Amino acid sequence: MITLGFMIEVKGYAAHNASSPLSPFSFERRNLLDYDVMIDINYCGICHTDIHQVKNEWGRSNYPMVPGHEIVGVVSKVGSKVTQFKVGNQVGVGCFVDSCRNCDTCKKGLEQYCSSLLTTYNGIEKDGKTITQGGYSNKIIVDENYVLHMPENLKPENAAPLLCAGITLYSPLMKWNAGPGKKIGIIGLGGLGHIGVKIAHALGAEVSVLSHSHKKQKDSMKMGADYFYSSSDPKTFEKLEGYFDIMINTISANVDLNEYLNLLKLDGTMVIVGIPEKDSHISPYTLISARRNLTGSLIGGILETQQMLDFCSKHKIECDVELISIQKINEAYERIINSDVRYRFVIDLSSLKC
Ligand code: NAP
Ligand code: ZN
Ligand code: ZN
Repeated sequence: MITLGFMIEVKGYAAHNASSPLSPFSFERRNLLDYDVMIDINYCGICHTDIHQVKNEWGRSNYPMVPGHEIVGVVSKVGSKVTQFKVGNQVGVGCFVDSCRNCDTCKKGLEQYCSSLLTTYNGIEKDGKTITQGGYSNKIIVDENYVLHMPENLKPENAAPLLCAGITLYSPLMKWNAGPGKKIGIIGLGGLGHIGVKIAHALGAEVSVLSHSHKKQKDSMKMGADYFYSSSDPKTFEKLEGYFDIMINTISANVDLNEYLNLLKLDGTMVIVGIPEKDSHISPYTLISARRNLTGSLIGGILETQQMLDFCSKHKIECDVELISIQKINEAYERIINSDVRYRFVIDLSSLKC
């Protein structure tokens, strides 16, 4: 069993159970190992996954929990064998900080599907007991192979959400060949959805947004959507039956998936990325009647995440963010739950000093 030395004092905000608000929390991180970089965190996005996990909606939460997996900061120290980063580099950390590195999926650059994936927070370190802690904090120490280079032409606070939301949409859009001539439906215009619209538009596809109110129509057009439909209007489901090649479902809540599946054309594909609290019922007939595909997708590997950052750099794709101080975290959670985020909250970690 590996023993980790703990010496680096860190400040952050943590959840201590599933029902209390997050509150200030001090803890230690491991001393720098040979391949580690120390990152002074400047910004961290708030993903809906943080809320699901803080509230233990998936039944696998460890406390205390410092959430946050859309981390951008500056390298402040490097271990003796680090070759890819230097002090002063602007870097990012996404949803995981290690994997086994030997299995088939790791070797293919699909580390996110490794059965030994170590998530950035709420994971258990190699010592078998230490809980990993995320980016709602002022410093993090990560093996260089799990750190990303952030593009210099994107504002760091607007690029932070790319590290989870961006790659979660980029990966299935690439896998299912989104591009010219393809009709894409993005279901849910939150943190994930809004970046999906921008990426699909940059790929040259026709993009439609399906949102549960009419409130986000204007914004979606500015992001590059060609069409906007409200799922609260029953005519939407009649009008669009059999229309889409690819639909990406980012909804964080339980909805009737069959209604949306009906909107796929022959051989069309729905990719589920949203992870609601409860399971869904799927009608076999809905799939069979047009040979529709139903699949899922989990974030993306390190190489693909770097490719996504480079793509966003080339196309100047930044996230629409509301920058907040960490003291507003519990308020921000409530607004996300009410679909009232435009379109990603990002924490300015300099507020930890206040
Ligand atoms: P978010 O910002 O809260 O966006 C979710 C959107 O879903 C909302 O903006 C809303 O869009 C829609 N929605 C919410 N409640 C709804 C309801 N009752 N009925 C219909 N639509 C509803 O969340 P996010 O950060 O984008 O994350 C979305 C989901 O993806 C979460 O479950 C998260 O855990 C999961 N996730 C998965 C991965 C992965 O790798 N697969 C990665 C990151 C996150 P409209 O207002 O436009 O309807
Ligand atoms: Zn996330
Ligand atoms: Zn592996």
